[in-house]
Amino acid sequence: MRHVDEYRDQALIEPLIAELHRSVQKPVRLMEVCGTHTMAIFRSGIRSILPAGMEIVSGPGCPVCVTSAAHMDAFIDLADRDAVRLAIFGDLFRVPGSRGSLAHASSRGAKIDVVYSSMDALDIARNHPDDLVVFLGVGFETTTPGIAATILAAHRQRIDNFCVFSTHKVIPGPLDVLMQDPELRINGLLCPGHVSAIIGAGAYQPFVDRYRLACVVAGFEPADLLNGLIRLARQIAQDRPAVDNIYTRVVSWEGNRRARELVDTVFEPADMEWRGLGPIPGSGLKIKQAYHHYDAEQRLEIVIPDVPEAKGCICGQILKGQTTPPRCPLFGKRCTPAHPIGPCMVSSEGTCAAFFKYGADT
Ligand code: SF4
Repeated sequence: MRHVDEYRDQALIEPLIAELHRSVQKPVRLMEVCGTHTMAIFRSGIRSILPAGMEIVSGPGCPVCVTSAAHMDAFIDLADRDAVRLAIFGDLFRVPGSRGSLAHASSRGAKIDVVYSSMDALDIARNHPDDLVVFLGVGFETTTPGIAATILAAHRQRIDNFCVFSTHKVIPGPLDVLMQDPELRINGLLCPGHVSAIIGAGAYQPFVDRYRLACVVAGFEPADLLNGLIRLARQIAQDRPAVDNIYTRVVSWEGNRRARELVDTVFEPADMEWRGLGPIPGSGLKIKQAYHHYDAEQRLEIVIPDVPEAKGCICGQILKGQTTPPRCPLFGKRCTPAHPIGPCMVSSEGTCAAFFKYGADT
């Protein structure tokens, strides 16, 4: 398959591994900022061949994982309301709230449809005129253009029984918060491939300027990842931080202007609560007043409850790159993918799920 096979070619990979080992000349502590990168690094086996001196921690790049416990409870409360029908992405279904999950709500009769896109949710609204279909908006810059297009389609087609509960987030805000933490000692970012397709590689220049962070935008195949790690190690060894985009088959410096315009038509920046990080000014997106009819929070007068994290769960610390899942006392014991305590064990992009699936212990 074009653009895939050539990035998995063993003849290419072995010299890259050797080069990666040569490139690490001083301690390298990297953060990967994308749940898909978390999984890809494990799946490709790269984590097990990292050179001594190179450490990779996960960041806040799994959208389900960074959804706050309070928002999860609000979702579950909503599911239990009469005449409300939820449309959700599948990863949310089993995420625990303080009083069960959406799966539990479904088993007691709540109407919940798992969809692949927000347009599917609009179809459900069209086919169930007696229900108010609420799409649970969870995701980053990659997801929001599609949601904006769906709200505009609902508006155009006068589909009134559809709205969105927006907990959408943007990635630069939490990175800025994290990089101000001197204890984190991150000296390079493996920047997210998908989000960068929208915001552009240029969005990371402020992190180079402010924090002297090495930044590389990379794809998800083994050669992409190894090249990304090599470039980061070289920048750090030479003390010449810069934004290096090696995923040019998908990501440009400017990103996707049309997609951002679509988002700006429907959404505006808002303060947002992140699991582990708390509220971050301007790091979320709320629906503009012009489209308030499609804003579930306004339409249904949703009150976000005050909810503590699950007892013993350290997802918040993991999402900040402060620790790794095996250091959680519940990991693999009380908390497993079959019986998750926190979202990082449920999501297909969760760091705990990745460590569990691939049997990593550090
Ligand atoms: Fe939370 Fe489970 Fe991960 Fe521990 S292993 S941090 S309880 S999700």
